[in-house]
Amino acid sequence: MLVSAKEMLIKARDGKYAIGHFNINNLEWAKAVLLTAKENNSPVILGVSEGAGKYMGGYKTIVGMVKGLIEELNIDVPVAIHLDHGSYDGALKTIEAGFSSVMFDGSHYAIEENIEKTKEIIRIAGERGISVEAEVGSIGGEEDGVIGAGEVADPAECKRIADLGVDMLAAGIGNIHGKYPANWKGLDFEALAAIKEVTVNVPLVLHGGTGIPEDMIKKAISLGVAKINVNTECQLAFAAATRKYIEAGKDLESKGFDPRKLLAPGFEAIKATVKEKMELFGSVNKA
Ligand SMILES: [Zn+2]
Repeated sequence: MLVSAKEMLIKARDGKYAIGHFNINNLEWAKAVLLTAKENNSPVILGVSEGAGKYMGGYKTIVGMVKGLIEELNIDVPVAIHLDHGSYDGALKTIEAGFSSVMFDGSHYAIEENIEKTKEIIRIAGERGISVEAEVGSIGGEEDGVIGAGEVADPAECKRIADLGVDMLAAGIGNIHGKYPANWKGLDFEALAAIKEVTVNVPLVLHGGTGIPEDMIKKAISLGVAKINVNTECQLAFAAATRKYIEAGKDLESKGFDPRKLLAPGFEAIKATVKEKMELFGSVNKA
């Protein structure tokens, strides 16, 4: 069922586990994530960046596809369609198109402007029961073409945004998007604890979930992280499985060129990655 992310995140925060946010890119991605959630009886968040929205033919196309899959495949676990790193206009458009959750990423604005715009999105989304994620302190790595270092958010700024009534808060704690460099210092747990202390009950979001060691993931969950974003890892798994199929010459055998056959190993690889993450995050059987 399509729901806002609010309730599933409150339950995760209280139950000390995290909900996986998996970015989707096409039908195979959406179907793989939804079926894995159903098979593992886990709530799930489908993340859609503005770039992926454009790629898939627009936000309404995505809402139609996901709603159709939920109905036809009888996906009986809570599912949220969530805008990832949305601009102000992107958030308005996805609310209009029927997304059940949005992230407004105002982290590149000065804090006052971030607060004003976040407040406005909370007002508009709130009228429709749509959950809102905000971001403080830009998260490093490549975020829509902008490369940053693993920044650490200012707890005082986190408190100001959390107090607006956001449903979830993304704050930089040394995490970065994409692959982590060999000299990465790891997550800053002191910063996470300080942010948790001042933001009290707001579920925290960990972006850049690919390649963070399992013990760090578990510690982050114990310190208040209730949503973890996974994107690159599914892409790497899909690409590796597809490469293996083609390098084995399977696309040249019989009807191996059929897209339903050609994309099947990548589809299974996404499913395996999502399952592994759901087990690590502790969301299995929490639907
Ligand atoms: Zn992110």
